[in-house]
Amino acid sequence: PTPALHAAARVDKERRVEVCLGARSYDILIGEGLLDRAGEEFAARLAGARAVVVTDETVASLYLTRLEIALTSAGVEFSALTLPAGETTKSFAHLEQTVDAILAARLERGDGVIALGGGVIGDLAGFASAIVKRGTRFVQIPTTLLAQVDSSVGGKTGINTARGKNLVGAFHQPVLVLADIALLDTLSPREFAAGYAEVVKYGLIDRPDFFEFLEKHRGAIFSGGQERAEAIATACEAKAAVVAADEREHGSRALLNLGHTFGHALERAVSYDPARLVHGEGVAIGMALAHRFSVKLGLCSGQDAGRVAAHLKTAGLPTKISDIPGPTLERDALIEAIAQDKKVSRGRLTFILTRGIGEAFVARDVDRADVEHFLDEELP
Ligand code: NAD
Ligand code: MG
Repeated sequence: PTPALHAAARVDKERRVEVCLGARSYDILIGEGLLDRAGEEFAARLAGARAVVVTDETVASLYLTRLEIALTSAGVEFSALTLPAGETTKSFAHLEQTVDAILAARLERGDGVIALGGGVIGDLAGFASAIVKRGTRFVQIPTTLLAQVDSSVGGKTGINTARGKNLVGAFHQPVLVLADIALLDTLSPREFAAGYAEVVKYGLIDRPDFFEFLEKHRGAIFSGGQERAEAIATACEAKAAVVAADEREHGSRALLNLGHTFGHALERAVSYDPARLVHGEGVAIGMALAHRFSVKLGLCSGQDAGRVAAHLKTAGLPTKISDIPGPTLERDALIEAIAQDKKVSRGRLTFILTRGIGEAFVARDVDRADVEHFLDEELP
């Protein structure tokens, strides 16, 4: 880890993380009760602006009324669009519907689109905001742990197509992110754990002290309170630092893919069936695999790989391919899925490997045969 990377973002006592991107810098506010302050925070940054709120049915039934009250009491004029919940909402059809709702509300460039929801709503509403009038302003109110520590930070927006996930999109940074950690209390334990995998990831990339903090406070983080806020703030700061150093993924931002090459392959191998595997679970297995693969290549100690798997397991996350319910996965299908991953350049496999906890690095020249032998050992 370079000192410059860590200096690029900072956390202060109020748990405000600034994403430092020059003129496009913005705040991530982290705490309880931010949803009820959303109107004031919006008006403070976008004086006189109107808003279009985009959300999904599940989140709307829990939190839309509170956001509407907050906006109304701050004098913010708005309209709201509620879409079905789930990954299939990140589609061209729902993008069209969202763009239409924004145009129908006659939003101008200085007005704001507010995404209230998980990563699905954030990615879709963010992309709509990026393309309407070549860019309107955009506020994220992430409501899942995954969205608070990952998808709402960094400006990647987009939708899925029949040919694959996240293939159409744009970089479009929000002007504000409000992460109200109390909203996470209504998440299912499984969704919470899945988001937690991405929290652990930041420790494993370049913050061994943060990984130790997570080992010590995992119980408190899951039950809510101070340690939860601290973990989320540190995760946001970690992502903000990586994004500030490499906004458009020319180099070091690829470290955020730790666990994702294997993870995406597993998701693809189960045809994205959430009953078998959700993204964070794929990442958990992928991170455990990346560490064991690094052990096999003589890069990392077995002890560190064991510690990583043990921690993910206490968090209720899977760590082995055989932990995935349903029919056994085939090695060749996994290898194919890995080779099709977008992180392949000129036939060489790119993996994020590690020399130990907090010492991940980008390896651009991984031998396919090594991966095959490793997967043979991992499969039952
Ligand atoms: P999601 O948005 O589908 O939310 C998961 C489920 O939880 C949904 O059913 C939702 O309705 C429900 N939900 C949301 N908030 C809730 C709450 N507070 N209480 C109860 N239920 C709630 O999924 P996600 O896991 O948040 O995000 C996944 C998406 O994020 C994927 O499409 C992925 O590609 C994207 N993503 C984007 C980035 C990025 O950088 N842009 C990074 C990581 C992931
Ligand atoms: Mg991820």
